[in-house]
Amino acid sequence: MNADKPALQAPLRWFDSYYVVGDLGEGAFAIGEPFYGQCNFSYLIVGSQRALLFDTGPGVRDISAVVSALTSLPVEVLPSHLHFDHTGNLHRFAAVALLNLPALRAQVHEGVFSLGLYQSLGFIEGFKREPFRVAHWLDSGAEIDLGDRRLLLVNLPGHTAESVVLVDGLANRVFAGDFIYPSEIYAFLPGADLGAYAASARKLQAMVNEQTRILGAHGCERQGQVDVPTLGRSDVQALASALEQAAHSNGPVGTGWFPRIMPVNERMILWAKYPWMSR
Ligand SMILES: [Zn+2]
Repeated sequence: MNADKPALQAPLRWFDSYYVVGDLGEGAFAIGEPFYGQCNFSYLIVGSQRALLFDTGPGVRDISAVVSALTSLPVEVLPSHLHFDHTGNLHRFAAVALLNLPALRAQVHEGVFSLGLYQSLGFIEGFKREPFRVAHWLDSGAEIDLGDRRLLLVNLPGHTAESVVLVDGLANRVFAGDFIYPSEIYAFLPGADLGAYAASARKLQAMVNEQTRILGAHGCERQGQVDVPTLGRSDVQALASALEQAAHSNGPVGTGWFPRIMPVNERMILWAKYPWMSR
């Protein structure tokens, strides 16, 4: 993997032959995987007392070595949602937090959480579903206090039911997982709900301002270089409009039958199912 490393936009730098890391300031680090097809980005947010890793990538490589190089504080890990490309390294961490939903709690047996086949979708790319232990169940609306850095956890269903975002009000940024990023937005997979996605997008729009930086989990290519996938409030507004159109029309919208492919703006395309396919 040493050959033909793609060029990086600042502040990204190569951590090793696989991972890139970028110091975003105010205690946040982007950890990217440009050699993985979906170019996942996970985020480490560091306070004065402890740190939170938001997503872990698909597990092609062990991400814990990157994390321990960036902080010596205790680290808790929270996946933005349970698709395989975000949960692949969860089993390597002792402290995993999940959104407190009855359906998720019901998946714990003898202390171990097992991912569902269609919840993970790892079979699509041949990834195993590694079971893991859940240390904390966090309610939507919970404040995660890292010490001098507080994050608000918000459940924004749509891409999946258990999708969450983290709001750092002090730094005016949102860690968005797969909710929004500059690429194809997936609203057609099992568990996706167009109506919920549209409502969640309007909710997110109301939570941010024109200066908010929204950091996503995919869509890392910009001008032929690898960049931290970053969007803003106007992108959320455009996505909300496209989702509303998709959610309220069973007729032909956009091109293609499945998924329906709809333009959002110059940085995003919506891949949607039909409203009657939801849930
Ligand atoms: Zn996903």
